[in-house]
Amino acid sequence: MHAETQTTLSEIEDTLSRKGWRGVFPPHLEQTYQRDMGKVRERAVRRALLPTLVIYNLLLVTDIALLPQTAKVAALLHFAVVTPGLLLLYFLYFRLEGYLQRQVAEAAIPVLICAQTLTVMALNTAPNAGYYQYFIPLILLFSNVNQRLDTRVAGATSLVILLMYLGVLIFQNMLPEQKLAGLSFIVVSSYLGHAANLRAQRDSRYGFLMRLRENVRLRAAETDAMLDQMTGLGNRRYLANFVSRLPQADGEGCPVSAILMDIDFFKAYNDLYGHGRGDDCIKTVAEVIDGTSRLFSGTAVRYGGEEFLIVLPETDKAAAIACAEAIRVAVEDLSIEHGSSQISPFVTVSLGVASGTVNTETFQLLIASADASLYAAKAGGRNRFMALDGEAPAGAQRVTPAIALAKRVLH
Ligand code: GH3
Ligand code: MG
Ligand code: MG
Repeated sequence: MHAETQTTLSEIEDTLSRKGWRGVFPPHLEQTYQRDMGKVRERAVRRALLPTLVIYNLLLVTDIALLPQTAKVAALLHFAVVTPGLLLLYFLYFRLEGYLQRQVAEAAIPVLICAQTLTVMALNTAPNAGYYQYFIPLILLFSNVNQRLDTRVAGATSLVILLMYLGVLIFQNMLPEQKLAGLSFIVVSSYLGHAANLRAQRDSRYGFLMRLRENVRLRAAETDAMLDQMTGLGNRRYLANFVSRLPQADGEGCPVSAILMDIDFFKAYNDLYGHGRGDDCIKTVAEVIDGTSRLFSGTAVRYGGEEFLIVLPETDKAAAIACAEAIRVAVEDLSIEHGSSQISPFVTVSLGVASGTVNTETFQLLIASADASLYAAKAGGRNRFMALDGEAPAGAQRVTPAIALAKRVLH
């Protein structure tokens, strides 16, 4: 009846109780997570653009002070290669659709910055180059803590940076103890960064599962509150929701028909067979009404005790009458014994039909019109339909003649 809840509660509970969920979820959940995170990440990337560019380019001052020998190369790399490269990557990021592709574009940012840093370092023979290597832990920190890429991408990024660093370090003219110090800094900071990233991922995924569980529970409760427990059909609350979502044609309202249906002599049925069998009878009749109205693109709801309302959007009077008659026949064909009915050996129903163009506000008037017809069907002998006033009331005035006519028929 409602849009299927794609993620079931048990799927979430299962994932929560599994140990390995922190890395990647099962495919369906992973997809939802990535979609959910996609928007959050997009905002974070947009916000990070300016600070990244400003901080990165401000560090050029340190480059020049520390390694004047390669100041020109550093400036050239900053402004002619890395800055345009970063802008291009950000541009690409917003063009790309895939979650992983976007992550790779993000991961390329620290790799590019690192490539520039290591190039300047490699071109230097000055003893100060030993200090320059300490920019690499900062880049690793940026990648693991700020960017918060998915664990695997973040891990791969750290590894690429580490290998690039090792490649330069081997040939670098530096004291062995300087190399050792740099290497330990970088290995430890990639470990710390990775651990922080892992924790952030776990928190993010755990938070996501909790949010999702709450949403699914809430949706299930909402759906529950709109269902009639006995018949499984929608109730009045469901009807109100359904009506509010009817398409409005030209601002006027939706062409719609309504059938109000009531089981005949049902009090007598209860009196004869007991309430339990009465309930069974209501359930069986409800099933038939539901099935038959679906054939006419209608939606059946339990309107009251043994009363049902069938809403038929985009349905004219003739089709609504056909639907009403089909329901009447279908219930009669069930041949449910009714020893205390005054008109038939079986359970029968009476129906009132009303059609017209209504909106949410005037829908009650359409029901009133259907009710008037039902009243007439009862008075006319039961086990029949009536469609007194085919048109939907545009206002109360148009309902009144229908009710008046029904009363004329009755008395
Ligand atoms: P009519 O042909 O005029 O509709 O007569 P009726 O006896 O069906 O109408 P009335 O409104 O007098 O009685 C309706 C009965 O339906 C009374 C009530 O006990 C019964 N009823 C309403 N809801 C339920 C239900 O959920 N289960 C059972 N077993 N009976 C119900
Ligand atoms: Mg009734
Ligand atoms: Mg009745």
